[in-house]
Amino acid sequence: MIFKIHLIYEIFSMKTSTNQYSQLLLCLLLLSAVICLGWYILSIKAIPWQILVAQSLIATTLIVRAWLFLRAEYPKHHHSAQPDFLSSNSLLNSLSDGVLVIDKNGKIKFFNQQAFLITGYKPDEALDIHYSSVLRFFTKDNSPLPTAEDPVVISQQTYDVSRLDMINLRTYSDKVIPVAVQAAPIKDDSNEILIAFRDISRELDREREQLEFISTASHEMRTPIATINGYLGLALNPKISQIDAKARDYIIKAQSAVEHLGELFKNLLSISKAEDKSITINNQVIDLIDFIGKICDDFQPQIASKDIKLVFAPLANRTRVLNPAILIYTDKDLLREVISNLIENAIKYTNQGTVTVNITTKDNNMAQISVSDTGIGIPPEDIPHLFQKFYRVDNSQTREIGGTGLGLYLCRKIIEQLHGRIWAESKLGKGSTFFVELSRIDQFKATKIKAHEQRQQAATQSASVDAANS
Ligand code: ADP
Repeated sequence: MIFKIHLIYEIFSMKTSTNQYSQLLLCLLLLSAVICLGWYILSIKAIPWQILVAQSLIATTLIVRAWLFLRAEYPKHHHSAQPDFLSSNSLLNSLSDGVLVIDKNGKIKFFNQQAFLITGYKPDEALDIHYSSVLRFFTKDNSPLPTAEDPVVISQQTYDVSRLDMINLRTYSDKVIPVAVQAAPIKDDSNEILIAFRDISRELDREREQLEFISTASHEMRTPIATINGYLGLALNPKISQIDAKARDYIIKAQSAVEHLGELFKNLLSISKAEDKSITINNQVIDLIDFIGKICDDFQPQIASKDIKLVFAPLANRTRVLNPAILIYTDKDLLREVISNLIENAIKYTNQGTVTVNITTKDNNMAQISVSDTGIGIPPEDIPHLFQKFYRVDNSQTREIGGTGLGLYLCRKIIEQLHGRIWAESKLGKGSTFFVELSRIDQFKATKIKAHEQRQQAATQSASVDAANS
């Protein structure tokens, strides 16, 4: 009884808690039955009309309260798992990303508060106009973003998610800010696209500061490391210093650690330059077979101490005589750094057998350089991570071979800047092949580039002669 009175009180006072939902319904049913019974008895015996009115009022109140309760509680429990995000403007307005929804014609149908704060366009100015008038995307060198690269266009065409991690956006006041953009179709019949974008200026500033620090630290460390290495070399030189066998052993170990440190700082410096995009790229026409052949020659002394043969396949197979030159237009120093790194690794991770460097062409417009070895190979699960910063395969074989885990990362960064592709294939215990793919140019284009370069060189020379005479 106390239980029922408590529930009745709750119904009247609307204090019903959600976990008593079923008890409430039960109570409601019981009360309705009691009232119906009372009604029936009353209709037989003539009871005063005031009691009849009071009973009706109680019954009506109960029904109204129960209905109000159901109306308030039902949506909470049955719809909260899948809220309708798109109709919830307040939710989209509270996001820290700029959000737009465009219709199938590209007209803006929704524009949140953050989109206004980033672009400077007020929602009432932006609504119903084409998104490209508000989201004015520009490439890193500040030319308008080609339509084929616009993530919104790509998403409209492919009906899939498309993103750009960094692109410039020109705001209402013509300020240029870097943003990350993602466009995704709303999967219903509306053909609408949801565009989310974020101002990444602060992230880039932070990244730049970190790179500056790494670059300065690496640069400053190189001189003391070279000095330490020099002195250790002098200590090991029997003509200069007399040391016992134990000291010699310690110094050899110290020298190897210092060399490792030197290598680490050298790589860090190159990486910070590559990440900062401050590498100067001096493109030149390169005859790949001549160029890579010379790099291979430079490695011959290094393999003399190992039971390895270094084969440069194009010359070994004499394909040079049969095939035309494979020409590319790229930066010699950067490409040399990448190929040297790959050959160095192939030698380092191969105990015996052959390291083969080859050059092939693909579809007549791509040149492919491959460095294969018959070494320890790479487990399949490590292959996707090889080009990540500081990644080293960790097994009993690699643990004994020194390294920084930065070489392949640097290769990837450089090849990205040269607009090429780098990847690896490997079989554990059998060997690995690393591939680099770059655009090829034909003889006609190469001649034109060379002629242009000669004209420019002549113009610079005559300008400096003029300057010297005046
Ligand atoms: P590291 O200085 O450790 O050699 P890299 O970035 O050059 O750094 O290479 C990353 C890892 O990839 C290496 O630690 C090694 O485990 C693996 N690796 C690279 N090249 C080869 C190869 N030719 N054969 C086997 N493993 C390789």
